Amino acid sequence: MRVGIVGAGLAGCECAMALARADVDVTLFEMKPTTFSPAHTSENLAELVCSNSFRSDDPLSAVGLLKLEMAEAGSLVMDAARHTAIPAGKALAVDRDLFSAEITARITAQPRIRLDRREIQSLDDPALAGLDAVVLAAGPLASDALAADLARAIGQQSLYFYDAIAPIVDAASVDYDVAFFASRYEEGEGDYLNCPMDEDGYRRFVADLLAADKVQPREFEKELHFEGCLPIEAMAQRGEMTLAFGPLKPVGLTDPRTGRRPFAVIQLRPENAARTAYNMVGFQTKLTYPEQQRVFRTIPGLAHAEFLRLGSIHRNTFVEAPKTLSPSLELLARPGVFLAGQITGVEGYVESAACGLWLGLSLVARLHGRELPPPPPESALGALLSHLRTDAKHFQPSNVNFGLSPELPGRNKKASRKALYASRAREAWTAWKNQYLDEPGRLPRG
Ligand code: FAD
Repeated sequence: MRVGIVGAGLAGCECAMALARADVDVTLFEMKPTTFSPAHTSENLAELVCSNSFRSDDPLSAVGLLKLEMAEAGSLVMDAARHTAIPAGKALAVDRDLFSAEITARITAQPRIRLDRREIQSLDDPALAGLDAVVLAAGPLASDALAADLARAIGQQSLYFYDAIAPIVDAASVDYDVAFFASRYEEGEGDYLNCPMDEDGYRRFVADLLAADKVQPREFEKELHFEGCLPIEAMAQRGEMTLAFGPLKPVGLTDPRTGRRPFAVIQLRPENAARTAYNMVGFQTKLTYPEQQRVFRTIPGLAHAEFLRLGSIHRNTFVEAPKTLSPSLELLARPGVFLAGQITGVEGYVESAACGLWLGLSLVARLHGRELPPPPPESALGALLSHLRTDAKHFQPSNVNFGLSPELPGRNKKASRKALYASRAREAWTAWKNQYLDEPGRLPRG
């Protein structure tokens, strides 16, 4: 049995190691050092292109739980990260050079993995012929030729080249004495949650947006702003009233507390059927994360907002997973070709590695004629994978967060919710792991 994996990033290396540990032969194709994406610079594998942080290690956070689950499933990335960790408070951060060197050493020392340094430009590349499965793990900056070929295979409209992500707010943290439910021009309770602003508040908000610190786009990202995903602050820069006539327009809305139309309205759209999370409509932004929290908490109704995800805009190649992938991450249009990592629509280092690990485990089972069901959606990995099957109108990548998990039963105090999500996730994951994984990296049982 031989599997070909395109891209030796976080997902590709994780997937390769999961397969190799279960005695599956792997050819791992990596285009570096012949060709580098605009963000990659090192010859080593699993390069961290920006921050050196794997985010929170708090076992009460979704990403902390995901890391625990990965470690228990034999994650190469988590193990290498622990070996090369540097002090970072409650976060797991690594020395990026040591981390990539460690992964490269482990991959090249694994006898079942053959590293082939070349660019794969097409799904029909002769190097991929005759393999039992092909995994595309070419990441958010997959090479142009490969991305174009993938677009041909799945349909141009199903492959995206950038993220314009608006923040997501935990529904339990909204002040419902201020925000009100209504859809434009509709009587009674509507689908949207509306945060009303008076004129002074609006003008202060626009001034705050303009003054806030922003992340500077990299050279290759500058063209994004011309592609129709204007950041909210760039729109505000066009004139003080631009937002009030654009995404913050109040037409068709009456504040039930005043009986009048507000001067401006920030609309929040439910992110899931259980309405546990709300998306801030039109708020894609390049504000830094701390500035987003500061400025957006000045919005009436959001003073104590907990952000499940913050906004961003960046170059990102990803497929419309719910329409193009099967639950086992196989391309519906090309059976035998699987996707892993950020290109599936998960977001972030940890999530991409987790996705690669899951695909590796699931392919091992498949190659042995068995089916590995995904972990339950209450677990962190299960919640992340369930995002790829959401029925959203506008599918957008997501990092792991409790908003992706099924709602907690009953009404719970805000202070206890994280602990409840976390203990439920640990229970669900442990039951799944005990049933399906025998020892880290080798599976399935039976
Ligand atoms: P990658 O890690 O990008 O790996 C893909 C690999 O495939 C690369 O080695 C590439 O050279 C190779 N490849 C591409 N095309 C081909 C081809 N045709 N043939 C052969 N090889 C190919 N996430 C965070 O958590 N924190 C951050 O701070 C952060 N900052 C980011 C900044 C930028 C500019 C970008 C673009 C992304 C950032 N991300 C960040 C997201 C992060 O890059 C991804 O989550 C993660 O690296 C994705 O892992 P991956 O394995 O899917 O892809």
